[in-house]
Amino acid sequence: QRVNLCKVDDIILEILSNLNDLINRYNIKLNLQISTELPSITGDKTQFRQVFLNIIQNAIEAMNTSGTLTIKCYFHNHQIYTIIEDTGIGIPAKIKNKIFQPFFSTKYGGTGLGLSVVKQIVEQYKGQIFVKSHKNKGTSFTIILPVQ
Ligand code: ADP
Ligand code: MG
Repeated sequence: QRVNLCKVDDIILEILSNLNDLINRYNIKLNLQISTELPSITGDKTQFRQVFLNIIQNAIEAMNTSGTLTIKCYFHNHQIYTIIEDTGIGIPAKIKNKIFQPFFSTKYGGTGLGLSVVKQIVEQYKGQIFVKSHKNKGTSFTIILPVQ
């Protein structure tokens, strides 16, 4: 059986480098607090990339200009914690329980599929995802992935 070892820090840095032009155009400040001693996780890199890309994309879209995107990543208790925080519009309490549903979107032309895919992949790897948000202050997503 083929085993894929993935480094979450590498995946995140790769995504940020791909989004570099967009991040600059939106004048978004980056605050990276990524541990240099993360163990690898087992799984499909394309799927892990999809998880972090969808959440980072939403974070950028929530800020439109001059926000701060904070990404923290650390290893604790056999799990990798990734926290992706924006200073954007926030998620109103009344829709918080809907955001992971397929096709739920508050955006003009949004597919509403990003977070449903994220949730499905995270659960496939027996991980967890949590969201905290304050309207007009910002949002943070915490993704916890187990290390085998
Ligand atoms: P889409 O981005 O196509 O709308 P998603 O599944 O990625 O679909 O997100 C669903 C909804 O969750 C968004 O339309 C938005 O209302 C809300 N949302 C997700 N991430 C954020 C965020 N960082 N800040 C504010 N709202 C968010
Ligand atoms: Mg999205």
